[in-house]
Amino acid sequence: MPSKEANVPYDRAAAAGRVTLVGAGPGAVDLITVRGQRALETADVVVYDDLANADLLEFCPPETVRIYVGKRAGRHCAAQETIGAILVREATPERHVVRLKGGDPLVFGRGGEEEQVLAEAGIPFEIVPGVTAAVAAGAVAGIPLTHRQHASAVVFVTGHECGEKSRETSVDWRALARTRATLCIYMGVRRLVAIVAELSAGGLPGTTPVAVIANATLPDQSVQVGDLDSAETLAATVEGQPALIIVGEVVRLSEILTQARMRLEAVPA
Ligand code: SAH
Repeated sequence: MPSKEANVPYDRAAAAGRVTLVGAGPGAVDLITVRGQRALETADVVVYDDLANADLLEFCPPETVRIYVGKRAGRHCAAQETIGAILVREATPERHVVRLKGGDPLVFGRGGEEEQVLAEAGIPFEIVPGVTAAVAAGAVAGIPLTHRQHASAVVFVTGHECGEKSRETSVDWRALARTRATLCIYMGVRRLVAIVAELSAGGLPGTTPVAVIANATLPDQSVQVGDLDSAETLAATVEGQPALIIVGEVVRLSEILTQARMRLEAVPA
């Protein structure tokens, strides 16, 4: 591998005093970026949670301090303020701190909040982007998120807040239904009944194709394809697992493209 192409020199001395927010990618260890892997290789401290594959920690030197801030750390995830405080506490001038986050750090990952805390504390930081779950889910399910005949826009949206009217940032699902964009719904499984009701009220027919992709890129990955009417049943089977819901005409291509891919893979080289 060429050694000079990275514009971030990750030798320990250069990285000291810095916090690097690294996107771990969607799950499979080899879907982290080269830059993300290099950051781990020079980490003095790594702060990680459940969505990042724990096998990635093997890139760290044995002496790297590992701080777990996920669900098993307590009854719930460590509060975001606690994580911010840990980053500030650990980022002494001699140490390189890596904050490892599932997918991309700035897509529904609260990376923005961590950046704000670091900025306020005057600690230098940088972001190493990662493959976000929607992109990985599309790839494993044979669903092109855009396609000139089917969708010219993609929306990354969280289902987490659907039904919580009080939020200022709450999503206008009925308006989304009218965009004809591919909808990539993160954290949508538990709120799917409400989401489907809103999308239907916005005019999406019950026959609109839907895919539910759980644990994308991991050994226990599952891909289920149905439509808006059957979406709730599909989602019920993956409750509690990280799952991405894709809504839109592009989902129709899933079957054709996954079958073609399997046929091509089966052809001896
Ligand atoms: N920053 C992450 C998203 C964090 S929110 C990213 O960019 O991907 C957590 C949600 O992401 C999960 O509830 C799920 O909806 C989705 N997700 C993360 N990993 C996933 C995977 N391997 N397969 C399917 N969905 C995943």
